[in-house]
Amino acid sequence: MKILITRKIDSEAVSLLKEHFEVKYYNENIPLPKKILKKEIKDYDAVLSCVSEKLDQEVIKIGLPKLKVISNMSVGLDNIDVAFAQSNGISVFNLSNLVTDATADMTLAMYLSLNRKINLAHNYVKSGDWVSWDPEIFCGRTLKNIIWGIIGFGNIGKAVAKRCLGFGTTIIYYDPYVYETNLNGYNITKKSLIDLIKQSDVISLHVPLNKKTNNMINYGNLSLMKRNAVFVNMARGGVVNSNDLFRVLSTKMISGAALDVFNPEPIDKGNSILSLDNVLITPHIGTATIDCRKVMAIGAAMNVINYFKEYEENEF
Ligand code: NAD
Repeated sequence: MKILITRKIDSEAVSLLKEHFEVKYYNENIPLPKKILKKEIKDYDAVLSCVSEKLDQEVIKIGLPKLKVISNMSVGLDNIDVAFAQSNGISVFNLSNLVTDATADMTLAMYLSLNRKINLAHNYVKSGDWVSWDPEIFCGRTLKNIIWGIIGFGNIGKAVAKRCLGFGTTIIYYDPYVYETNLNGYNITKKSLIDLIKQSDVISLHVPLNKKTNNMINYGNLSLMKRNAVFVNMARGGVVNSNDLFRVLSTKMISGAALDVFNPEPIDKGNSILSLDNVLITPHIGTATIDCRKVMAIGAAMNVINYFKEYEENEF
């Protein structure tokens, strides 16, 4: 059995795979160019990919008929044409719950950094502007006194809610596929998307990117947010219309946005949104803790190993 690992991952995961497979390892910190992926993929039974590699119909077709498994080192599967892969007998795996805590932690970090203006305050001190204590600078809001609206009440959405409830925040959520009224003994309230958008002081986004959620957040609903509310995108850039977001931020129709993801990624360094003071942008690092990245790599490796153990016992 042969497996292709598309980019540098934790060495323990690579060693695990080497115990079971002939491994071709692109041990580099850059996405594997599509040209190489297209050239390579036909020779492998499995691919361990990352969000940075696009496995569209064109690429998957070349992998047929040998390719049996795509194991994505991510929860999101929006870089893969899952329906096409599955209709051709390829099993596609993601990481489910393995990244929940790291991403939920980062959601709060993003909100707090933006709202308490930590990056602006840091730059202010570094540039020598701090001359005295000032009662009027860098004021934000206390988590206890706000309503936090969560769009997508799955693993990460709930983990964000649990953290916020610890701070005394009021939680509302929108998720057509979930109905819960209590979390860890605290009341939570399901809302329609529009009511959530109108009522929240913070809106954080935790839905998968797919045909239904593509551009789900746009001028039509962003313009309904409170003027002092902030928007946090921890899901995927494509869920939000980037032009519409720029419009409401640049005209101060909303207070600010914290964006760990963007459409397109990476963001062009000339993009006007980068010039706005009320925006905090990070390079898709929701899962970037040392332990989480290790667990992700091992999880993705184990998905491949378990697949072949279960379905092709004789090979082991
Ligand atoms: P999950 O599957 O546990 O939860 C997703 C939730 O979204 C589900 O409850 C589902 O019912 C809900 N949902 C689906 N369509 C919806 C819609 N149209 N409107 C409202 N809710 C909808 O997934 P998760 O682990 O919570 O991750 C969510 C997403 O976050 C992933 O798909 C991934 O794209 C993204 N993510 C980003 C990072 C990062 O680094 N920024 C890290 C992990 C995950």
